[in-house]
This record gives sequence, C-alpha cells and structure tokens, in this order.
Amino acid sequence: MPRAARAVRCGGVALFCIACVAGHAAAQGATPVSQARPEDTEVWQPVPATASARVANGAPPTDAIVLFDGRDLAEWVNVSDGSAAGWTVQDGLMVVNKAAGNIETRRRFRDYELHLEWRVPATITGAGQARGNSGVFLASTGGGDRGYELQILDSHDNATYVNGMAGSIYKQSIPLANPSREPGEWQSYDVRWTAPTFAAHGTLAKPARVTVHFNGVLVQDDFELRGETVYIGEPRYVPHGDAPIKLQAHNDQSEPIAFRNIWVRPLP
Ligand code: MG
Repeated sequence: MPRAARAVRCGGVALFCIACVAGHAAAQGATPVSQARPEDTEVWQPVPATASARVANGAPPTDAIVLFDGRDLAEWVNVSDGSAAGWTVQDGLMVVNKAAGNIETRRRFRDYELHLEWRVPATITGAGQARGNSGVFLASTGGGDRGYELQILDSHDNATYVNGMAGSIYKQSIPLANPSREPGEWQSYDVRWTAPTFAAHGTLAKPARVTVHFNGVLVQDDFELRGETVYIGEPRYVPHGDAPIKLQAHNDQSEPIAFRNIWVRPLP
C-alpha cells in the first residue's frame, strides 16, 4: 500500500500511523530494518554460464555463435533462393557481391546481442545513398529488403537524409551522434535487439526495441520501432517469429563494402 494511502487511512494520528506501518510489515512477513542482514538480499542461484569478456583483439565471447570469422560463409545463404551465399571471402574478409543480392543467416534468432564490423573502401565513389550503402536487417521477415534495417553507409562526409545515414534505423530513427570514420577504416556495430511479439490472432503485443553502439558510441537508445523499415510509405508490423539476420547488397554503382568479425549471442 502506498505510504500516502496509509497516512490517509491512519487519519493523521501519528501513534496510529506507526502501529499501522508496523502491522502492515508484520502482515507482509518483512524483516524489520533493525534485524535485516546483508545476505538477506544476496542472490546466489542460478549462476550465469561462463563467457570470457572480449579481449583487445576483438575476439568474440566464448559463448557467442560466430557468424563470420574470416574463413567461409557456412552460416549464410542467398536470400533469393536459399542457396550457398554468393558473396566473396578474400583475405579473411566477407565482401559484398551485388550481383548475388542480399544474404542472411541460416539460423533464426529472436532476442540477441550482435557484433559486426564493416569497412567502406577507401576508393569509394558516389554520393548520398549511393555511397557505401549496405545494411543489417535485425530480423529478415521476407525476401528483398523486408525486415528492420540498421543502415550502413559512408556517413563520414556524405550528406543524405539523416534518418537514412549510418547508425539510423532506416527512415524511423536518426542516430544520436555521427561517430563515422573515414572510408578505408573499420567501423563496428554492437546491437541489442529485442524482437517484436505478436498475439495469437496476429496483432502486435510488444514492438521491437533496439540499442546500438556505433564505434563504441551510443546512437540508438532502446528505440521502439514503429514496424518494418520501408523505402516508401509508413512502417507497419507484419506478424513473424524467429528470423534470420540479413545483410544488404544495395543496388547502386559504388564499390562494395567488406565485413569481418560477426557474432551473435542469443538472449533468453
Ligand atoms: Mg541500406
């Protein structure tokens, strides 16, 4: 019972108020403050599983699912037909093949922590949305660009609509800052994704939420999405379950970007 309500019920008589509070505590089985011990509020079980922290060289935590470690694309498929991913692995990097189109993970995820690193080539050309455009769809809900896109773009010195710059949730949320590095330098996204949930009859129960650190800087702070990200029109939700994570092969003429060190930790 709120303290104010108790005061009203006790009628403002101090003696009765003390009795009232004491009686309330007894009824709740609470330990009087004078008898409370530190260990009363210690929680010892369950013990979290062991996971090493990230080390200086950027190695994933030991409990992460590694989606790309420089060797192969075994965890990825082409979105168009589910065949082996048609992007290129060279020098330990995953390079976009625009002709092959978008790729997505074989596995499906719900809520997770995701880390990925990307690099726009130093030789990049083009302007606006046609300059190093890619993206990570935090849940791929269908073919093409269906899903929820965290934009990837050269935004170091490249004007475009700000809800479509690097670090934006495409056309929904402007990043809180622009920590973009120059083309040719590696950049990182660390994402905390909470998938939307839907009621049995398909209506939205809880919207998706996302927190993003871009090069270590908070750019999306528990943003609540209004639906899938769309190029034209307004966002809306379409019911879905666990979903792949998708990377975009954007259809423009600028030089393809590269990825490295991609891992995910599904969350309960
Ligand atoms: Mg994009």
